[in-house]
Amino acid sequence: MDLLHAFIWFGFGTIFGSFLNVLILRYHSGRNLSGRSHCASCNKTLTYKELIPILSFLSLRGHCGSCGSKVSYQYPLVEILSGLLFVFVASLALSIFSTIVLITIFWLLLFISVYDFHHTIVPNEAASLTAILSLIFSVGLMGNPFFSQILYGLFLALPFYVLWRVSDGRWMGLGDAKITLSIGFLLGLSGGLSAVILSFWIGAVFSLLLLFINWQRKFRLMRNSKLKLSLRVRTMGVEVPFVPFMAFSTFIVFFFKVDVFNLVLF
Ligand SMILES: [Zn+2]
Repeated sequence: MDLLHAFIWFGFGTIFGSFLNVLILRYHSGRNLSGRSHCASCNKTLTYKELIPILSFLSLRGHCGSCGSKVSYQYPLVEILSGLLFVFVASLALSIFSTIVLITIFWLLLFISVYDFHHTIVPNEAASLTAILSLIFSVGLMGNPFFSQILYGLFLALPFYVLWRVSDGRWMGLGDAKITLSIGFLLGLSGGLSAVILSFWIGAVFSLLLLFINWQRKFRLMRNSKLKLSLRVRTMGVEVPFVPFMAFSTFIVFFFKVDVFNLVLF
């Protein structure tokens, strides 16, 4: 794929990323999906100049054009990620139908990830649609056998489902099981296992980092206020949504063919 095509796909993806931002805010919030976007702070309707993905954020240096309040980095970040996933999928040069299906799968995974990050819940409709599209892609378009893909999905999702049932949702959410189902459908057994293991590794590194930052902040606070008794680092106190790591690992395994077993053994 040449640079011009990559650029066009990227731009196209950022527009869908913009829509994704709206969807994350309004989905299941009782608000209309079709109305124009407002500033979250002063409620002013955004002009068309303020709606251009990434560029609006850069030109206004991350502030609202009328009230000057800060705009979350989430907006340009989601737009960039959406743009990148369009480029990655398009670079595979699949048929137009396969391209649309695959873009939708990863676009939904991005939506679910950010939604889970915000609301700590995985939207059911989006998770079901991802699972169905994953099956359509791997069985209908890539020619994998139907029953084995179904089995791989169930096999990967079962431990997460059991953990959810046993712990009453304290260790794992049901959302994690729903996403692993799609991962198995899409990547099969070894790819799916690789993605799940990879997501645990990334999740562990991320949690440790978060703990370290927390601990540093507490330590600084303690030193300042001399409240020595307050040194109680709650190691399990950080709640980290797991679905974003799974979605990211799925992307990595799918596009870079990362095989965790080879990585460990050799
Ligand atoms: Zn404003």
